[in-house]
Amino acid sequence: MTIRNLDDLLAEGVSGRRVLVRADLNVPLDKQTGEITDDGRIRAVLPTLGALVSAGAKVVVCSHLGRPKGSPDPQFSLGPVAGRLGELLGAPVHFATDTVGDSARSTVAGLADGEVALLENLRFNVGETSKDEAERGAFADQLAALADAYVDDAFGAVHRKHASVFDVPARLPHVAGRLVLREVEVLSTLTGNPERPYVVVLGGSKVSDKLAVIEALLPTVDRLLIGGGMCFTFLKAQGHEVGSSLLEEDMVETCRNLLERSEGKIMLPVDVVAAVAFAPDAEHDVVPADGIPSKRVGLDIGPETVAGFAAALRTGTRTIFWNGPMGVFEMPAFANGTRGVAEAIAESDAFSVVGGGDSAAAVRLLGLDEKSFGHISTGGGASLEYLEGKTLPGIAALEN
Ligand code: ADP
Ligand code: MG
Repeated sequence: MTIRNLDDLLAEGVSGRRVLVRADLNVPLDKQTGEITDDGRIRAVLPTLGALVSAGAKVVVCSHLGRPKGSPDPQFSLGPVAGRLGELLGAPVHFATDTVGDSARSTVAGLADGEVALLENLRFNVGETSKDEAERGAFADQLAALADAYVDDAFGAVHRKHASVFDVPARLPHVAGRLVLREVEVLSTLTGNPERPYVVVLGGSKVSDKLAVIEALLPTVDRLLIGGGMCFTFLKAQGHEVGSSLLEEDMVETCRNLLERSEGKIMLPVDVVAAVAFAPDAEHDVVPADGIPSKRVGLDIGPETVAGFAAALRTGTRTIFWNGPMGVFEMPAFANGTRGVAEAIAESDAFSVVGGGDSAAAVRLLGLDEKSFGHISTGGGASLEYLEGKTLPGIAALEN
């Protein structure tokens, strides 16, 4: 698999050329004020944009934001993002009030070498996400007409067969940006030949979301530690009662089968923080994982489990992949499991990768130093689908 990357494009020379950069600027906004609450995704694309600006390209950035329904919707405007992007780049960003219309065309035409424009939300156009190839293609034609080359730096969107991700690279010379290149390099080491021991920690809410990734990783890993809401379906599969904890009945058989095939690689909680209700201030106790009272709901892994997981993560481990919080970390009373596991990963000498939107958010919310992790993936869904071995449309499009 060879993908041309930004350095190849820079080597050709981009001065005076119009370069369309598909970025993932889908940042969280405060519902009341509309302010950007976390600009991590804007920062993540700066290396690519900075390199293009320095090389004198006319940089045309496009992105989606939220889920508008194919027509303009002010609450999902990228306007505020243009302002923040300009601050971070240290130069004003020209904002087009449409994506491929008069405003976009005149904004791009007015760019001087080394200047940056941001187009309005891609998803204000039905063609962006359409399942109809002709409709997507027509929109892709209009987008591609705005540029001479295409850079994909939107890792969070590469698993989508959308016009800006899949159809535009078929119409323009195309390369992977710095962020996409780094993500693919890191994730391919996890599926290829990771240094051993290789330990994977999975949590989060649903087994059904992560089943494919468990299946794909099980043969490769040395240890698979399972916490979070999904552990209860596994505990049930072992014959334990789980009270009113999160349970996917229809997955119990599948989990039993996985446990049988796992050759003892799967490690489950031995104790659980069980609360009287799903609430931040609910009364709670630590109980054995095989003795959850019938009226209790398991909201975190217990301290003995944290210690066991931490020990498994420390003992000479060379590679770690973590996806999914160990408990309801949004409530401080049930954040200890996630904190304990995250700290053990941060302290380990292993190369560690964090995937998953909520896991990455947990790292920041709990105040852990992002630098103590080897890589924090910007694409939750995309990183899981990559690890499942699925073909990602946006990556496949860059390979051609
Ligand atoms: P990620 O985005 O990192 O892939 P998920 O989306 O799968 O993670 O899961 C995150 C959610 O799982 C969090 O909102 C968290 O509160 C929830 N969760 C974790 N443990 C439990 C639990 N024991 N019961 C209910 N929800 C849980
Ligand atoms: Mg999530």
